[in-house]
Amino acid sequence: MLQILFSLEDASVIETVVIPSARGRTTVCVSSQVGCAMNCQFCFTGRMGLRKHLSTAEIVEQAVFARKLFSDEFGTITNVVFMGMGEPLHNVDNVIKASSIMVDEQGLQFSPRKVTVSTSGLVPEIKRFLNESNCDLAVSLNATTDEVRDWIMPINRRYNLSTLLGTLREELRLRPKSIVLFEYVMLAGVNDSVDDAKRLTELVRGIACKINLISFNPHSGSQFKPTPDEKIIEFRNMLIQSGLTVMVRLSRGDDQMAACGQLGAAGDYQLPLLRVPEKFQVAL
Ligand code: SF4
Repeated sequence: MLQILFSLEDASVIETVVIPSARGRTTVCVSSQVGCAMNCQFCFTGRMGLRKHLSTAEIVEQAVFARKLFSDEFGTITNVVFMGMGEPLHNVDNVIKASSIMVDEQGLQFSPRKVTVSTSGLVPEIKRFLNESNCDLAVSLNATTDEVRDWIMPINRRYNLSTLLGTLREELRLRPKSIVLFEYVMLAGVNDSVDDAKRLTELVRGIACKINLISFNPHSGSQFKPTPDEKIIEFRNMLIQSGLTVMVRLSRGDDQMAACGQLGAAGDYQLPLLRVPEKFQVAL
């Protein structure tokens, strides 16, 4: 994995990551904001707070530069994921424009199936994205109850699991070819139980989807622990037995970008950590 740092006119720094893979796929992971306002509790970028939305040009240029700098070394860049710094759909105008330039004949000419925009669950913006863009959508789910999601992803207090998944179910009916990718970062003792696996199966029922189980990559100051690899495999097997399509990124895949929130420097100012529900205090 290679990191490129871009210095913007106002001296803020954004990070872009290029991820070559053995299967001939090379992915560029672009940032959409400097920092992020969503304050997901397991996330490094989220600790920074939001500093700035990136312009359409600043987003597209990350992919253009990555192509110029690395195509000789790794071959053509085949995929783009909006999983760098920021909540892409919090900057929805510029992200929709940037993703359309990436797939345009006159633009970067990626296939829409190779451009994926990730979100923590901004429901009105998800509707807009699904109606205005033909690129793929990934949703960071990471919990199977509102109690846990309210804590680790505070956006859930505005758009809870039922609203989020109900919207996806509804909207994807109108786009029968679309498949949503659910990202699920596995946090020991928080969202990795047998009951979580059962609830997850029920929650995504009726939504054309794939699940991506991601081993948590602990960062400095993080209060969570990663689920052991063997337990991730057991969790995956339960989901597969229920008929779901599941991918796994184990801890040795630390060099692969699988969800937003692993980039950035927290700096002096940090958003507050939220109160840990009593029954989960023992897991931390
Ligand atoms: S996980 Fe993504 S949406 Fe949540 S705070 Fe981090 S960058 Fe923002």
